[in-house]
Amino acid sequence: MDLSYGAEAEAFRGEVRTFLKTVWQPGERRGDDLKAFVRDFRRAAIDAGYLYRGVPKRYGGSEQPVDVIKAQVIREEFNRARAPMEVGGNGVNMTVPTLLEKGTEEQRELFIRKTIEGDYIWGQGYSEPGSGSDLASVRTKGELSADGRKWIINGQKIWTSQGMQSTHMFMLVRTEPDAPKHDGITYLLIDLDQPGITRRPIRQMTGEQGAHTFCEFFFDNAETPVSWQVGERGQGWYVSRTTLKHERASIGSADGLGKQFDKLVELARDMGRLGDPLVRDRLTKIEGFVMAHRYTSFRLFSCAAAGDDPGPVSLMMKLALTEVGHEMALLAQDLIGEHGFVEPAGAGGRGPRGPRGPEKWLDQIMGSLGNSIAGGASNIQRNIIAERGLGLPRDLAMSGEK
Ligand SMILES: Cc1cc2nc3c(=O)[nH]c(=O)nc-3n(C[C@H](O)[C@H](O)[C@H](O)COP(=O)(O)OP(=O)(O)OC[C@H]3O[C@@H](n4cnc5c(N)ncnc54)[C@H](O)[C@@H]3O)c2cc1C
Repeated sequence: MDLSYGAEAEAFRGEVRTFLKTVWQPGERRGDDLKAFVRDFRRAAIDAGYLYRGVPKRYGGSEQPVDVIKAQVIREEFNRARAPMEVGGNGVNMTVPTLLEKGTEEQRELFIRKTIEGDYIWGQGYSEPGSGSDLASVRTKGELSADGRKWIINGQKIWTSQGMQSTHMFMLVRTEPDAPKHDGITYLLIDLDQPGITRRPIRQMTGEQGAHTFCEFFFDNAETPVSWQVGERGQGWYVSRTTLKHERASIGSADGLGKQFDKLVELARDMGRLGDPLVRDRLTKIEGFVMAHRYTSFRLFSCAAAGDDPGPVSLMMKLALTEVGHEMALLAQDLIGEHGFVEPAGAGGRGPRGPRGPEKWLDQIMGSLGNSIAGGASNIQRNIIAERGLGLPRDLAMSGEK
């Protein structure tokens, strides 16, 4: 297996390094000063063609030809220099690609630049009480106003990540109650700052509440212009498939897994358990999965570079990442013992004072359970791999047909 990227890519790496050395100089900046510096840095990185490569220049991107090797080199070099890449979140990962693929010119102009500059933060309004895995059963209602210019929305959305900070939402609403389940849904964009919308934070089992976490939304005659509808009326289910595809790709990334494993080894050392044969056995097994995940992502990367279809492997990445993360969390939990559960999240731990004490692992242990549900529960992922990827017959027991 040849894992080198070739001379052209290495020359490009040199260019990126020089750019970072010259432009990424945050020094001692803090607070608003740092924020302004990061904003200017991102602008310079866009002008150099390193960020938002798939976004046309007229919407604020750098509009570069597709080149997965260059994109990978940029990721590696920015990570190495600890320089900020694109602003994260639903907006950049989901709204922007969806609008580029399915949006109108007006929607692209209104939303893309503001989203990639971090001014608009997007919540994903899909799940409702009773409509999670069975997303096509959404009941939040959309009705046209008398003049036909606005959608009037009534209902509830739940489990909205970053919901407390979101300025906007992309959502699925039922607009044709009599149509077959998948055909009666419309995909809407909505401004969340209006009287018909109430949001309520949901407390998580990690103890976190508020700005960075979940909330639920109540829509009581909330309004959005018809021109903010993405795709055809009643065809929102198919638009949402674009968004989910992007979401699964971003969650399935292998970046960071190796670093997390190193921290786990460090925790075992800090707890004086690195010599324990049972701990070593579990670490070795986990390292095997981490390496397999890494090589699988190389494989996907090579397929993308060569324009080949990787087959069912791409469907497996989210599930694999979730499972390895959970195995790591379980081992961390055993290493920390009851310590892990008496420390409030984010508080100074009484345990070892390494760079990542028990209190940090508590979030990870709880969070690993959340990852097996967010973006499509693991059972559903397994059925998708089996049915779409491997061509196995449908799971009749779970589809309610048996
Ligand atoms: C951390 C986190 C972040 C989230 N962020 C968002 C967000 O921003 N926006 C949003 O809209 N939603 C969000 N969600 C919600 C998430 O999409 C749903 O929780 C998920 O789709 C599961 O739906 P549910 O909770 O209704 O569980 P259910 O659908 O009731 O599932 C319960 C269990 O039954 C299993 N199950 C159900 N049906 C089947 C089947 N057909 N075959 C096999 N097993 C099945 C599931 O695997 C699961 O184990 C988030 C969830 C989490 C945990």
